[in-house]
Amino acid sequence: LRAELGRMERLSLVGQMAASITHEIRNPMAVIRGFVQLMKERSPGDQQGYYRIVMDELDRANSIINDFLSLAQNRIVEKEKCSLHVIINDIMPLLMADANMRGQSIELHLADRIPTLMLNEKEMKQLILNLARNGMEAMDQHGVLRLETTAYPDYVELCVTDSGSGIPPEKLERLFEPFFTTKTRGTGLGLPLCLSIVEGHGGEIAVDSKEGTGTTFKVKFYRNRNYIGATTATAAGMHLA
Ligand code: ADP
Ligand code: MG
Repeated sequence: LRAELGRMERLSLVGQMAASITHEIRNPMAVIRGFVQLMKERSPGDQQGYYRIVMDELDRANSIINDFLSLAQNRIVEKEKCSLHVIINDIMPLLMADANMRGQSIELHLADRIPTLMLNEKEMKQLILNLARNGMEAMDQHGVLRLETTAYPDYVELCVTDSGSGIPPEKLERLFEPFFTTKTRGTGLGLPLCLSIVEGHGGEIAVDSKEGTGTTFKVKFYRNRNYIGATTATAAGMHLA
């Protein structure tokens, strides 16, 4: 027990340091981005492409930092009674724009009625966006992404299914490891963050995948595990490292 406590304390110290470093890096980056934007506006047309790349890469670095920060911090997650369907409807325009750009489509199969749950709206949006984007990134043109909700007596299930490449068995077990990615421009922080969000809601996440056919991520939110008020989400994924 003593050894385990030491390990946890070290992890949380490293987590705190990482959190404050990333926090400090964000400010100068925001300033850099502002000036690059200004320089871009004042530059001739043949240089616009270079500035575009600089800004895209800054944005990418920023999203790595943001994901890492959400993961490394022990954050207090405020929850309120809300409907998963309202949240899904809110992010649909974003998802549709993404899908349209890729020539893909989205199918919604929402349950007729689902109970309200104690959720953190911002984290729910982050969760669904992450799962949906992974699904789209795994599919070619004409791929179909399916969002489905089902109400069971004890829980609500959300399934995100893609008709993409699928995941080979040896990679399945590494999906939730921080920094595990098979993409040249991936961060490998999306799924660890999803796991942390789901666990912070007392829920469960599972994956079902068949190579060449597609992948389904299933998330369960239990009605009787609806925490009242705030709970602390620990950096679930970080403990794997
Ligand atoms: P990233 O998307 O930045 O690579 P994630 O943590 O979101 O990081 O995902 C980790 C890895 O899991 C991906 O690189 C990919 O190999 C695999 N993966 C996740 N979702 C899917 C999916 N729907 N279909 C196929 N592979 C997936
Ligand atoms: Mg991802």
